[in-house]
Amino acid sequence: MKIDVKQYLLNTTFAWVLVVAASLGWNLFQIQKNKHEEFLEAARGIFKHTVVTREWNARHGGVYLMVRDGLRPNPYLDDPERDITTTTGQALTKINPAYMTRMISEIADKEGVVKIHITSLKPLNPNNDPVPWEKTALEFLQDKGRDEYYDHKREGKTTRFRYLAPLVTEESCLKCHRTQGYKQGDTRGAISVVFPIRNKSNQALYISHLLIACTGILIIQWFGRRLSQATETLKRQSRIDGLTQAYNRHYFDETLHREWLRSRRFKSPLSLVLCDIDHFKLFNDTYGHQAGDECLIRVAHILKETIHRPGDLAARYGGEEFVIVLPDTPLENALVVAEHLRANVEGLHIPHQASQVNRHVTISLGVSSTTGDLLSEDELIAVADRALYQSRQNGRNRATMGQTI
Ligand code: GH3
Ligand code: MG
Ligand code: MG
Repeated sequence: MKIDVKQYLLNTTFAWVLVVAASLGWNLFQIQKNKHEEFLEAARGIFKHTVVTREWNARHGGVYLMVRDGLRPNPYLDDPERDITTTTGQALTKINPAYMTRMISEIADKEGVVKIHITSLKPLNPNNDPVPWEKTALEFLQDKGRDEYYDHKREGKTTRFRYLAPLVTEESCLKCHRTQGYKQGDTRGAISVVFPIRNKSNQALYISHLLIACTGILIIQWFGRRLSQATETLKRQSRIDGLTQAYNRHYFDETLHREWLRSRRFKSPLSLVLCDIDHFKLFNDTYGHQAGDECLIRVAHILKETIHRPGDLAARYGGEEFVIVLPDTPLENALVVAEHLRANVEGLHIPHQASQVNRHVTISLGVSSTTGDLLSEDELIAVADRALYQSRQNGRNRATMGQTI
């Protein structure tokens, strides 16, 4: 299985950022939605409270206030008892629900808290003419048959929540409004409620999500590095012979195939050297299996050290046999390399009393070579094997050039 760790990391990081971004989006949406519902409830409350105070006033047929501190009688109130004087001479004027709402609204507006406005598409008092948004809202209620309208409007740095709901004629309203032809349940107009909304900063949410995203990315990177290391180790282990640390048979097969294709394509020479430790069975028998292993390690090491071109490869072919792949190397040069390999192994001076060749460990070698598609991969190995056999036949501790025919 081929694991592309980089691509995996990229995909995981991308997916993580997407999840965090989705969470941020969802949170922002929920905050916005909750805020909207809060403002709507507040606006409904103010509207209902206004309607209740108006009803209180209407039920009592209006209330009288002392005419002082700039209070002027309501010019739109057509009532013979609008202005009266107490027995002590105090002037009183009748305040109907509409006038009362306007007076309360003026105070609230001055405080900058909330703007309450009675309005209608056909107002009696021109002060109650609808402003453009109220007109739109009133038409919306009329056309769609809805019982409330709300939106929010940003003006400069301030955002205002705007609410408008119809004023329905109650029994108590008819005392005064019957003459205008209203019946109970008729819509007489509407009350609008406008108040500024504070946009709370979402900075904490942004920062926390940024931290979550970064922490996640760091963890992904950390696991990615571990995975990358594990993959590298695995890849290395799959190519390396556990005992000698030379390349293994599987990797040799892969390399030979690759180099053979390259040789065929570029018509370049490709050589192979098969090496076999002489009388190794006797070595094991004499010094023990552990010493045999140690010997294999040392021989593998010197073989690896002797070849030095970047494309050269030394692998354990099996048992006490090694194979060397020499790309771009003609047969004569390969024979020179083989002779170096032989001399260097002998030069290790690993004692081998039982050997009938030398007092030290030696190797026999067989060399083969091909250019283009002169020999197949199997033939290349077979020729080297035959040459190795010749070396053994001729007294071991020598390299023999393979004959292609
Ligand atoms: P020749 O000179 O004809 O090559 O004789 P040889 O004894 O070297 O060859 P043979 O094929 O008879 O014996 C090979 C020996 O290599 C037998 C086996 O025990 C030993 N051998 C193979 N692999 C290992 C290994 O991993 N460790 C050890 N210690 N010995 C091994
Ligand atoms: Mg052998
Ligand atoms: Mg041998």
